[in-house]
Amino acid sequence: MTERVLKGLSLSPGEAFGEVLWLDREREEKDQGEVTSGNPLEALALAFSRVEEDLSAKEREAQGAGKELLQAYLEILKDPSFRGAMEEKVREGKSPREAIEGVTGHFKEVFSGLEDPYFRERARDVEELGEKLLLALSGKVSQKERDLSGKVVAARNLLASQVASWKAGEVKAVLWKEGNATAHVAILLQSLGIPAVGGLGEALEGLQEGERVHVEADLGQVTAGVSEKALLEGEKEEKKEGKGKEREEALLRAAAAPSRTRDGKRVEVAANLAHPAEAPRAKELGAEGVGLFRTEFLFMERDRPPSEEEQRAAYREVLEAMAPHRVIFRTLDAGGDKPLSYVEFPQEENPFLGYRGLRVSLKERDLFRTQLRALLRAGKGLSVGIMFPMVVSGEEVLAGRAMVDEVLGELGEERPLRLEVGMMVETPAAALLAEELADHVDFFSIGTNDLTQYTLAVDRGSTWVSSLYDPYHPAVLRLIGMTIEGAHKKGRWVGVCGELAGEVLAAPLLLGLGLDEWSMAPQKIPAVKRALSLWTGDEARALAEEALALDSPEKVRKLLENEARS
Ligand code: PEP
Ligand code: MG
Repeated sequence: MTERVLKGLSLSPGEAFGEVLWLDREREEKDQGEVTSGNPLEALALAFSRVEEDLSAKEREAQGAGKELLQAYLEILKDPSFRGAMEEKVREGKSPREAIEGVTGHFKEVFSGLEDPYFRERARDVEELGEKLLLALSGKVSQKERDLSGKVVAARNLLASQVASWKAGEVKAVLWKEGNATAHVAILLQSLGIPAVGGLGEALEGLQEGERVHVEADLGQVTAGVSEKALLEGEKEEKKEGKGKEREEALLRAAAAPSRTRDGKRVEVAANLAHPAEAPRAKELGAEGVGLFRTEFLFMERDRPPSEEEQRAAYREVLEAMAPHRVIFRTLDAGGDKPLSYVEFPQEENPFLGYRGLRVSLKERDLFRTQLRALLRAGKGLSVGIMFPMVVSGEEVLAGRAMVDEVLGELGEERPLRLEVGMMVETPAAALLAEELADHVDFFSIGTNDLTQYTLAVDRGSTWVSSLYDPYHPAVLRLIGMTIEGAHKKGRWVGVCGELAGEVLAAPLLLGLGLDEWSMAPQKIPAVKRALSLWTGDEARALAEEALALDSPEKVRKLLENEARS
């Protein structure tokens, strides 16, 4: 069989050679059309008790993050409102299957509609429980356990409760049709040190049972159809170098040191956080600060805004956990698909192009003022950054800054030791005006997630056009380059806090464009720090120049993959 390359997303770092074992192809085929008979309420109760029994048994055996996850699932399962809603549907005349699908579907929809990846992941939890209940209804609680040791596991639908009971070193690697790095499955795989590539989509279906593959998870890449000779050589190498857990530990040790390029230039690698509780882990993983603290968690899912004191305490917690490093707080990024019940939002056809981000804060002035007071007071004696989301003009930044100055004027001693005020570059307008906007701020942080959707006219949440959504598009890269160039002319520094910053593949490219700071999901820090240490500024600049001259994201990715170092 000839070699072919499958592209996906890096979910858990590492490299492996091995043979494919399909986890769930058989199951999906077998499950088609199964029905249950008898008293529907009893059938539902039986399904619940089977799933509870199965999860409890797994929970007793699991350790660490896996154990915690299974405990959380058991809690949802035992929550009377979850089960009660299903029982009610059955009483209304629905079948147990319809009741399970209806209730889990409803919960899933609510969670998936939220932009925060943490809450979106809750949708997956409920979906997973729903799938288990459906299996239990048809008499199959969990799949027949197969021996996965030494295999590269391919799965369409990987369940976190399955992975939770795996042992480190057992499964060689995982290839998953879906998935993103914030999925529970990904987090568990990372903690087990199992390399994983997700988001492989339809390409995964072409893999045959027993086919030999080479998984390069850092690059989000799988080479299928490798020869037996290559496989044996690869496995020999693996044994020699002690990949997997040991590799991860080596990366972690290296990540404790400040980030430097191969020619010794200091670059900053920071964390993206959405909750204060995440800060200690980020520090352990080598974060040299927080480049993006999403403050939305304080404002969502409630019927009145958080008080100044509640906010101050939460912001202080992050700052103290990260001290002496700087924490950059993004002011509330509500609107779009993140409405608040206590703020009036219009009905819009295109909420992502509407009333969101700084636009809301400048109108809801009391809300904005309270947040700024809380941020500035929390920063007493420490290093704080404040940045505004969704900016398109100098007027907006100046209005935001004026509010910061006004609040500072009201405060006495309770203020940061060092304060920087910046803005996110998430719109082509902001990137194109970077040199001018740099007069009004201390720094820029490029939000490549939004910048990509606004540049390419591709909704970041749409699955229909997701193949067109690609931050490696040369147009996006040129805007990043322009932003950095404009800022540097005025002596300002620039970071990237969109997902692109966490990609190993993009590290030399962003270095070559002159980036000063990378901010990413904490678990990505070790691998990105290492990637940056393998390049000199000159080498990276030559690479970036070549990439910017290309005319498609595919060509850019190919170039970067050919040049990748490990
Ligand atoms: C971005 O747009 O890249 C960004 C970091 O902000 P968010 O993902 O929260 O919109
Ligand atoms: Mg954004």
